[in-house]
Formats: sequence, C-alpha cells, structure tokens
Amino acid sequence: MIENAIHEECGVFGIYGARKAAELTYLGLYALQHRGQEGAGIVSSDGEKVYEHKGPDLVNDVFASKDILAKLKGKIAIGHNRYSTTGSSSVINIQPILITYKGKQLAIGHNGNLTNSHSLRNRLEKNGSIFQTTSDSEIILHLIARSRKKKVKDEITEALSRVKGAYSLVFLTKDSLVAARDPFGFRPLALGRLNNAWVVASETCAFDMIGAKYLRDIQPGEIVVVDDGGVSSFFPFKKVKHAFCIFEFIYFARPDSIIFQENVDKIRRRLGWQLAKEWPVDADLVISVPDSSNTATVGYSEESGIKYDMGLIRNHYIGRTFIHPDQEIRDLDARIKYNAVRGVLKGKKVVIVDDSIVRGTTSKKLIKMIRQAGAKEVHFRVSCPPIISPCFYGVDMPTKEELIASSKSVEEIRRFLDVDTLGYTSLEGMLSMHSLHKEDFCVACFSGKYPTRVEYNSGKYVLERAK
Ligand code: SF4
Repeated sequence: MIENAIHEECGVFGIYGARKAAELTYLGLYALQHRGQEGAGIVSSDGEKVYEHKGPDLVNDVFASKDILAKLKGKIAIGHNRYSTTGSSSVINIQPILITYKGKQLAIGHNGNLTNSHSLRNRLEKNGSIFQTTSDSEIILHLIARSRKKKVKDEITEALSRVKGAYSLVFLTKDSLVAARDPFGFRPLALGRLNNAWVVASETCAFDMIGAKYLRDIQPGEIVVVDDGGVSSFFPFKKVKHAFCIFEFIYFARPDSIIFQENVDKIRRRLGWQLAKEWPVDADLVISVPDSSNTATVGYSEESGIKYDMGLIRNHYIGRTFIHPDQEIRDLDARIKYNAVRGVLKGKKVVIVDDSIVRGTTSKKLIKMIRQAGAKEVHFRVSCPPIISPCFYGVDMPTKEELIASSKSVEEIRRFLDVDTLGYTSLEGMLSMHSLHKEDFCVACFSGKYPTRVEYNSGKYVLERAK
C-alpha cells in the first residue's frame, strides 16, 4: 500500500510450558512486528510471581538488552504488539495490561476492537470503575474483576458474553494461559506446539520463527485454557455466522502465514491472477508497490504473461521518528518512501499493481513519479474492490468521507489519479479466490454492510447489518 492510511491492528502471542518463555515471546513478537509498531510488551509468570516489561517503539528497541528478558522469569508468557485502534497511542495503553483483583493477577493482550465499548465503559464508570487507560481492552478486565464466578475461565466467559465486536485475546494468570476468539472470528488466532509447550499467535509466521508446529486455529467462539492439567477447550457462546476479515489476506497478514486455515501467499497470488483476468491490458511490464503488493503483482504477471520488473524501490529505513516535510514540500512524501527506476520505466507501457487505494492522494503522487521517469502509459490495477466504508473491527482506517471510493466512481478516481486505465478486482472475484465459503468473510469495508450492529461515536448510530 502506498499510503500510511490503513494500519494493521495488533499482534498477540502466548506460550505455556517453555523454558525461557519470555525470550520465545520476544521472538514471536518480532515476527508479528508488521501488526503493530507503536509499542510492545511481555508479561511472564514463574508460578509464584508475575513479571512485566513494556514500552513504546519496535520490539527490538523495547527489549534492547538480554537483561530485560532475563528478568521476565517463568514458563508462561504473553506478548503484544500495539497499533492503537481504540484508545490513544499513549504509553499507558501499551499491552499486555496487568491488573491485580481479588488477590489475583491477570494480564490481557487484545487484537481487535469492541463495538459496544462506549456504552459498557459508561455503565462501568457509573458503577464506580476507575479506568487507567483509554483502551477498550481494559473494559474486559473490569468485567472480569466484577464477576462473581470462582474460576478465571468462568470469569472470562462471563465478561466476554457482555462484549461485542472483534477480539482475539491472550490472558496470563499466575499458573495458566488462556486464549479466546470472538464468535464471528474477525481476527485470526492459531494454536501451535513447541516440544512440550503450547503456543498461540495471531499468525503462524510467529510459530515458524521459534520452530513451533501449527496445529489448528482457535475456533470462532472458542476459549482455550492451558494449565498443569493440559489443554481444555470450551464453546460457551451462541454460534453466529462467521465474519473472517478478508483484508487480512489482501494486506495485513504476512504472506508466509497461514490464517483462517489458508495460506496467505497462495490467496494473494490468486488475487493477482483474478485481477489480470478481469482487467487485461497490453503492456510491456508490470511493477509492484513494494512490499505489500509484491505477491499480487507476481500473480498478475503469471496470469497475464507480462514481465514483472522492479520499477519502484522502497526506502526501508524510515524510523518512527522520521520528520515529515512541511506543507510546502509535502509533494515529496511519496519520494521519501519510494523512488522510480528510470532505466526500467522509460518509454514503457507500465501496469502498476497495488493492494488497495485509500485516500488516493499518495497514489497520485507516485503515478506522477512514474510518468516523470518516462513511462509511456500507466495502467493502475488494484487487487481488491473499492474501499467505501471504514472498519469497526480493529483496523484503523480513515473516515468514510476520506475514503476516495466512498464518493467517487472508478472513472472519477481514474481521472483524479491521472492513469490511462484503472481496474479493481470485483467483490465476487475476490471472494471466489478462497476455498472457504464466501459467506464466512467480513467484507464490510467494500460493501458497507456490517456483520454486527455498531455503536458509532456517541453510541447513537447503528449501521446497516449484512443480510
Ligand atoms: Fe476486515 Fe474490512 Fe471487515 Fe474491517 S470491515 S474486519 S477491514 S473486511
């Protein structure tokens, strides 16, 4: 994706029964870094005491010395990479959040977004709850603390039966690891094995990093408890139609991961095939917007027979503290991240494949760069349908008004971008690339039909529900 307009949500990781659990969690978080770069944290337990360390920045910087990891003792650990969706990006919101209640300690790591957080928080505050963060994940902890159940698993179940929306969760207690996924299954969560240890992670690339074996997905609506007695699984919630986030395949997940039981690389490549079938063009070469559209571009090239070449080079070394230019030199922002390769593009009819268009402003600048590098024709291809509505399930997107496709037709967008032709993969075409049933996916950002009711801002608006 050219623009920094859609952000991955968060990454979660948990492990039970491993020597150096915190070090393995650190590696798992490192593999999941693409899901959140604002902050990271690990909480561990040795069965007696619970330890934590977290901070803003990339995993590597938060855990900058071996001493930090050495202090996170024990055979149980959970970790979290944060990109803020609900709640500000301030340090207090970095997860896992660790609390003490009724003499017990409990930590939570959350990927997703609750859709009834506004009313739940209001109600809890009226009843005396004092929140330490602005994160919706803390609501789950308050609900757990208020439960009158005896066992942690039952407290968690009761709390989760009151929240709505998207959650893939890891919890740590002094002597157990608990994982849970919402009944719609919006965000991925996988279960794996490393020798005698049990592992859970947002994506299987975290298992590969530590040499763990992927066993299966945590199922939608499932709660898994791992403790001294082994692994137990529960399905306490009413079954609903699944709503797996299809955007995970288009953009978020790493191509080397398996999510929702499908290989991301394979699906992304197929999206490129489908795009080439729906939008063929006579061209000399096809280029990607590195790195996120590389795989779809390979697919487009394979299907169309048009040569794949490196027409854009990406600068990988922009840190979080990069100072972005003032308004008067704003036009340079595309150049800060990418440069066009004149020797590849000059005099050529070029197809450029991207995974999505959000606001369209940075895409326009990139196309100008490609034209200035001497391209004779520029044909823009997008491996998903137009994004017309924001996400309420844990993906940070601009407002509806800012999404270019919410108010402009494809022809108007083509003219705005100044490309010779523009083609998006159709909704039907995108859905047909999966072996899962098309009804199992959430496609709300493309259709405007949301799989759940959603509180919007003040909790007053309820969006149209998918039929
Ligand atoms: Fe994913 Fe879009 Fe649904 Fe959000 S609205 S969960 S980004 S498919």
